[in-house]
Amino acid sequence: MAQQEDVFKKLVSHCKEYGFVFPSSEIYDGLAAVYDYGQMGVELKNNIKKYWWDSMVLLNDNIVGIDSSIFMHPTIWKASGHVDAFNDPLIDNKDSKKRYRADVLIEDQLAKYDDKIDKEVAKAAKRFGDSFDEAQFRSTNTRVIEHQEKREALHSRFSKALNAGDLEELRQIIVDEEIVCPISGTKNWTEVRQFNLMFSTEMGSTSDGALKVYLRPETAQGIFVNYLNVQKTGRMKIPFGIAQIGKAFRNEIVARQFIFRMREFEQMEMQFFVKPGTELDWFAKWKENRLKWHKALGLGDQKYRFHDHDKLAHYANAATDIEFEMPFGFKEVEGIHSRTNFDLSQHEKFSGKNIKYFDPDLGESYTPYVIETSIGVDRMFLSIMAGSYVEEQLENGETRVVLQLPAALAPIKLAILPLIKKDDLPELAKEIMDDLKFDFKCQYDEKDSIGKRYRRQDAIGTPFCVTVDHQSLEDRTVTIRHRDSMEQERVAISELKAIISAGVSMKELFKKLVK
Ligand code: ATP
Repeated sequence: MAQQEDVFKKLVSHCKEYGFVFPSSEIYDGLAAVYDYGQMGVELKNNIKKYWWDSMVLLNDNIVGIDSSIFMHPTIWKASGHVDAFNDPLIDNKDSKKRYRADVLIEDQLAKYDDKIDKEVAKAAKRFGDSFDEAQFRSTNTRVIEHQEKREALHSRFSKALNAGDLEELRQIIVDEEIVCPISGTKNWTEVRQFNLMFSTEMGSTSDGALKVYLRPETAQGIFVNYLNVQKTGRMKIPFGIAQIGKAFRNEIVARQFIFRMREFEQMEMQFFVKPGTELDWFAKWKENRLKWHKALGLGDQKYRFHDHDKLAHYANAATDIEFEMPFGFKEVEGIHSRTNFDLSQHEKFSGKNIKYFDPDLGESYTPYVIETSIGVDRMFLSIMAGSYVEEQLENGETRVVLQLPAALAPIKLAILPLIKKDDLPELAKEIMDDLKFDFKCQYDEKDSIGKRYRRQDAIGTPFCVTVDHQSLEDRTVTIRHRDSMEQERVAISELKAIISAGVSMKELFKKLVK
């Protein structure tokens, strides 16, 4: 674990050192849980968004996009349930004065039981070698059974308390499980209280009775209130989807783990409108579809898993998370929810407008059911950085840090490097750059030794380095170096575009999705 934390710290400083992510307002000592993306970060982020957007609206002819505003009529948040129910249960430790989410403390405790079980299994696997039968071990080993029973008991008590919104019981679980504050090490806890996560501000001047408005905590509602506009003007027929990328704001109390939990973040959400009764089939399809999207990036299939929800939100009849193995454990990156017709019915009720869909095939109107896929850009960014960051021991004893980013998402696709800064090499390098810059984000670099320049590009995940040397002047060939293998090959300048295109095109990723 300590080693993992160490990797995480290194990743955070790497993000800063190479212009991916900076703390917001840094010269004023920062603003908690708010971050800025630097020159490399913004490119990676834009590429992630493009990968998502195109996978939705290019690959599906029944999905279109919108861009709705951040401010919306405040009654929307009343209708959606956010004013009354978008709360976190909080608990303070009286000694350290630190505040925690009660549900997170209990989830961490559940994870501890899982860890204990995994350790027993790993130990036994080592002891028994090839003859190890894991299923049998799990069902017969007394220690594993004991941990498993404790875990299940806690789990069912926790789900019950959460579903009932029973704050006293949540506190009692923390007391009974003897959960201590990680800072003070004590069990001196306050009561559990509910805290609303929405930011609010005022629209208009206060003298003329300003309107209290909220900064949207999710982009989804902008889709719901526009769904009929889109359906009618776009002549969409159910099933169809609406995709949106945009900022969302939550006054997260336990803001930690870098860009994993921010107060201002970005979401990519798609709401898929279906006929009532078909929603669970669509839910299953979107689950599969979204996992494929993640796995296509090639960061390792074992790094993803589904986590089905125990506590269903007030609007859902099925829900799952796609979790990624971050340096601090498996964590949610994306949520997939079957939201029933809750949101649309609520908007119908609160607005007093008929927003039913007329189904021309059935000749009748109904309120569609909705499957939502909701992913945080920033969490996706963190998962990609975490999954790509590698410290490599080289044969010559040196180490190199290389970001093995999926090439299609890399901020810089190729670096163009004259071997030395004279003898007309820079001129030829710039000529190549001027040709390729229309197709790829390129970087020209002539400073320092070629080895140092390669390392710099490795550290920002550039898949290709093109080196121009004296031979290039004679026969118009260059060397192209591949980031991960560090292999170099000599190719004609005229071939560069095709080679790089094949290596960095998003098309290759999209092909995996439609298979
Ligand atoms: P969590 O349980 O971690 O708070 P959530 O279940 O409330 O997340 P959703 O409301 O389902 O999250 O939001 C969908 C996605 O938006 C999440 O999967 C996550 O990627 C992203 N997201 C939510 N809250 C934040 C945040 N504070 N900072 C960054 N990304 C976030």
